[in-house]
Amino acid sequence: MVLAIETKSLNVGYRNADADVTVLSGVDLKVNVGEFLTILGPSGCGKSTLLRVVADLLEPLAGEITVLGETPHAIRQQREVGFVFQDSTLLPWRTVLENIELPTIVGGKNAAPVVDGRIENLLSLLGLDGLNERYPHQLSGGQRQRVAIARALLNEPKLLLMDEPFGALDEITRDRLNDEILEIWRRTGTTILFVTHSIMEAVYLGQRVMMLASNPGRIVSITDLRDAKTKDNTCKREDPAIIAAMAELRQSLGEVS
Ligand code: ADP
Ligand code: MG
Repeated sequence: MVLAIETKSLNVGYRNADADVTVLSGVDLKVNVGEFLTILGPSGCGKSTLLRVVADLLEPLAGEITVLGETPHAIRQQREVGFVFQDSTLLPWRTVLENIELPTIVGGKNAAPVVDGRIENLLSLLGLDGLNERYPHQLSGGQRQRVAIARALLNEPKLLLMDEPFGALDEITRDRLNDEILEIWRRTGTTILFVTHSIMEAVYLGQRVMMLASNPGRIVSITDLRDAKTKDNTCKREDPAIIAAMAELRQSLGEVS
């Protein structure tokens, strides 16, 4: 069975002129197709670096990684990966619509999304109806992140990488977007890797929660929450099993920070 992501003894980090700087080492990870995996860990432990390697924005230092059974490079060329960052990088001189269309202008795998109505569907899926002609500075922070998510979803990627996408948003907006991203995940079946520093968010969204540590950078634990949730990955934040998982992760995060 093909996995969404499989790594073996993977080392990630940066090649400097004088020496390599290893950030995470010995990463052995299997992510199933269609899984929602959240990633927690102290600041600077290598969460973003790991996503960069998956997205083929950075070469691994050592070890093996496959994405959907292929190299990260091949998957990137097939445009099967969508990326959403904390500070969405919308182009200020383009409207919402033009920002979402950007991947097709750059050369997406699917042509003519406006004609087949996909952008309209995305706009309504993300509660952006009526905002097509606005410019980024005319949107709230939450709306800007929704546009970034819509843009990442346009090519219907099999893998969605989200790096603290809601970190800069207020709590109510974040909670709402959490439910929206779960709904998108249920509808599309895309595999999601989601980095957050909110334990609540990690537990609420993830079927599994991966905890990373630094010094040395590594995977500390992977907490499986599937038994504490329904099959479609729904849970109540006040459910005792969810509260217990949060307490355990809070303690673990304290120990590795
Ligand atoms: P996180 O996302 O978990 O906060 P990062 O993956 O951004 O952490 O960074 C992990 C480590 O890699 C940090 O120590 C950071 O300073 C270092 N780092 C990040 N980018 C570079 C780079 N371009 N060159 C060298 N080191 C880097
Ligand atoms: Mg980061």
